[in-house]
Amino acid sequence: MTKHIFVTGGVVSSLGKGITAASLAMLLKHRGYRVAMQKLDPYINVDPGTMSPFQHGEVYVTDDGAETDLDLGHYERFAGVVCSQASNYTTGRIYSNVINREREGGYLGGTVQVIPHITDEIKKAVASLDSDDNDITITEIGGTAGDIESLPFLEAIRQFKHGAGENNSIFIHLTLVPYIKAAGEMKTKPSQQSVGILRNIGIVPDILICRTEKPMQDEHFSKLALFCNVNKKFVIEERDVANSIYEVPVELARQEVDLKILKLLDLEPHDLDISNWENMVERVINNEKSEVTIAVVGKYTSLRDAYKSIYESLDHAGISNDSKINILMVEAEELEKSDNFDLISKADGILVPGGFGDRGISGKLKAIQYARENNIPFLGICLGMQCAVIEFARNVLGYKDANSTEFDEKSNYPVIDLMLEQKTITNKGGTMRLGAYPCTLIPDTKAAKAYDNVSDISERHRHRYEFNNDYREDIDSQGLKIVGTSPDGKLVEMVELIGHPWFVACQFHPEFKSRPLTPHPLFNDFIKAALNK
Ligand code: GLN
Repeated sequence: MTKHIFVTGGVVSSLGKGITAASLAMLLKHRGYRVAMQKLDPYINVDPGTMSPFQHGEVYVTDDGAETDLDLGHYERFAGVVCSQASNYTTGRIYSNVINREREGGYLGGTVQVIPHITDEIKKAVASLDSDDNDITITEIGGTAGDIESLPFLEAIRQFKHGAGENNSIFIHLTLVPYIKAAGEMKTKPSQQSVGILRNIGIVPDILICRTEKPMQDEHFSKLALFCNVNKKFVIEERDVANSIYEVPVELARQEVDLKILKLLDLEPHDLDISNWENMVERVINNEKSEVTIAVVGKYTSLRDAYKSIYESLDHAGISNDSKINILMVEAEELEKSDNFDLISKADGILVPGGFGDRGISGKLKAIQYARENNIPFLGICLGMQCAVIEFARNVLGYKDANSTEFDEKSNYPVIDLMLEQKTITNKGGTMRLGAYPCTLIPDTKAAKAYDNVSDISERHRHRYEFNNDYREDIDSQGLKIVGTSPDGKLVEMVELIGHPWFVACQFHPEFKSRPLTPHPLFNDFIKAALNK
């Protein structure tokens, strides 16, 4: 039977609910339990696929092609849980399921209402991960207690716990205990009020996790326990960590949150061994051996969350190479404006990530040309690969207006173009090439070497445009070699530049598969090359 943990948040957003939920999953897995995770997002978009990274951070993609909230990246990175379409539901998705059913006559003439129809649909989403192979599902509720949009979700989980029976589900509330400098005091009132909001709708947290800047004193634990109606043992401090988010599970383990959860769920407290993880955290803290600077040339550089998995993957490769990674976020448009390469000249490696739309493209092309001509290690991802192909076609093959038809439909050299089946699609939601696809690598290439000479790999995609096969011969024969393709050979998945120390680009998104203990091979070799520059 699957037991359930619900994680809600209060007072403010951005408390790190996703990281906390992922850390709990990681600990429970290390105690021998099989854990699944999901996030319920109260916004109306059917999925985050069509949302700007400026609004909501990166869109994380699962193996089965779901375009999801970036918190799922934390779930997979921390806990190694496999996320899927069932791991992210939004209000939009819940409502469209209910409305579609209504249109099909599924409610037999009944009035369709938030309670019970929407709440039932939410409960179905929560139960969708129940199985004999899953001991515990952790469900994170997006947003903050008190948001209008969250109400049906909170009502649904209240009902869920009510129906689940004793010891089968628990509520964990993440809250903020701010330090007020002028008063020199930490304040518990916002947490009391946030728990008050939950209590109004019938939810009483079993565990309170308090985000703080400073250590909490005994009086704070007592006050929070008394006024939030939580057992004092179950008031947990989650103080800001100094070096890395990967310290969070270690901190939570120190306070035995995992054991407390197992007790509340009436599950055996198997032993915990997280020494691998602790060693990894040690390596993050003592990474003084070497340092590299990587320029990430993109268009969402002002928002860290927009390239979350890229930055994490760079850090993972830093850990395995015992090297500190300095990330230089370079706004492609800045590079476009001037021929001033100072912005990237200090970099030991240049990375051009994925993206959509033509803003900043010529800046990215400049950065790629600079990397190509100056032997700077380069990693191109998705749009980054497409730009590397355009740059090569323009500046090496002399195809002056070579372009992707995403940016110029009339280009004489459309080196990147839509495949036939994409040309007729007008619906923008969920219609790209999404999720895991196999790729075959050519032996004796840098790409194959990175993957330990394995020839068949699987990587995740999220794009509409592809390398145009009409230009394959020209480009490959002049030195931008096609080193990875779909198994049938029809789609170009990877290219690398012959005679360059390390210039590799891929049509897929390797950043979604990197983990702190097992960095992604391409990031790992990219950082190695940057260290050897
Ligand atoms: N805009 C490009 C495409 O749709 C690249 C997408 C990406 O980088 N994720 O093909």
